[in-house]
Amino acid sequence: MKESYFADERGFYGDFGGAYVPEILYKCVEDLRQAYLPIIENDDFKREYHQLLKDYVGRPSPLYFARRMSERYGCQLYLKREDLNHTGAHKINNTIGQILMAKKMGKTRIIAETGAGQHGVATATVCALMDMPCEVFMGATDVERQHTNVERMKMLGATVHPVRTGNMTLSDACSEAIRDWCCHPQDTFYIVGSTMGPHPYPDIVARMQSVISEEIKWQLQEKTGRDYPDYLIACIGGGSNAAGTVYHYLDDDRVKIVLAEAGGHGIDTDHTAATIHRGKVGILHGSKMLVMQTPDGQIEEAFTISAGLDYPGVGPMHCNMAVKGRSTVLAVNDDETICGGYELTRLEGIIPAIESAHAVAALQKLTFRPDDVVVLTVSGRGDKDVETYLNNKEMAGAYGDF
Ligand SMILES: *Cc1c(COP(=O)(O)O)cnc(C)c1O
Repeated sequence: MKESYFADERGFYGDFGGAYVPEILYKCVEDLRQAYLPIIENDDFKREYHQLLKDYVGRPSPLYFARRMSERYGCQLYLKREDLNHTGAHKINNTIGQILMAKKMGKTRIIAETGAGQHGVATATVCALMDMPCEVFMGATDVERQHTNVERMKMLGATVHPVRTGNMTLSDACSEAIRDWCCHPQDTFYIVGSTMGPHPYPDIVARMQSVISEEIKWQLQEKTGRDYPDYLIACIGGGSNAAGTVYHYLDDDRVKIVLAEAGGHGIDTDHTAATIHRGKVGILHGSKMLVMQTPDGQIEEAFTISAGLDYPGVGPMHCNMAVKGRSTVLAVNDDETICGGYELTRLEGIIPAIESAHAVAALQKLTFRPDDVVVLTVSGRGDKDVETYLNNKEMAGAYGDF
């Protein structure tokens, strides 16, 4: 039988995934599991979802032939421009879908977790759009580090709860959101921000983001006369933009999948977020996945220059693809990332999010043939990261000489 890289009915991707939830949430998660496929396949839902993606988000996002970068790397490089979406990243594709789902299920209150604040902003945005109350859990450390996004969420009408447990970062915010959900299982919908959490969340988020590869198919056909690339490249935190980029090509062996995870200072140091390189099997936030942990199972803090990739776990779909060899996962360190970000800025006039710069920096670790078609997803724009780029311009080599 051919290997499947999609979730089975119980939410397993090979050995990973599932739904490990406390008793009190069992009914919530089970209700969602029974509801989600009929909703996603419902014609009214599809119509409303695609209308909003078009008129509100601005889809389809362009597939742009990057001429100068193509020359630099000796391939045919196309950029999938998720950075041009409303709110500046791919996350809105998912929050639009989940809030429509919440409404169809009769829920009246929205909660979300956020790290860098990008998912919090995308959730607060759709809550304003749909007139729903929104509460966002965010580690107190991140509240300080990502002040602008906190102000954006407040302006959009959301309540931001600083979380003061643990390391006071994303992982703790997830735990707190789950705790809140346990207290309000009846009226509350939890909008999860990446391909993580208990089943059916990883599958829901992957399906919502799959619009990315749906568009890549017809856009490539139009531009190259062939609807598949030789390589797909994306960065990977929890794994949602990567899942969307590869979704419609998972079973197509002609397409090589290369994912860039955050190496931080290096995978052999204590300062890394390279979960697939460094993680061991464990259960975190309701799902079995690769988790960075001490030998006795305490979750280790992730470290990277990129707040959006700062998570000690990685979604089950990607754990399975990596262990089965369907994807090649490269760890990209902070200095390589900064350099990649500056390079895209100077060669194409596109300042990428620091998360997306990890994918750009993966190019130099690969060898291409001149006619190889490469599609790289620029998951978000770098406006939020200008200060980080400037503070680290000594890592940018020749590009930092200004
Ligand atoms: C949140 C974020 C990521 C990481 O999340 P994934 O679920 O792995 O996609 C990557 N890029 C940007 C711009 C983000 O905001």
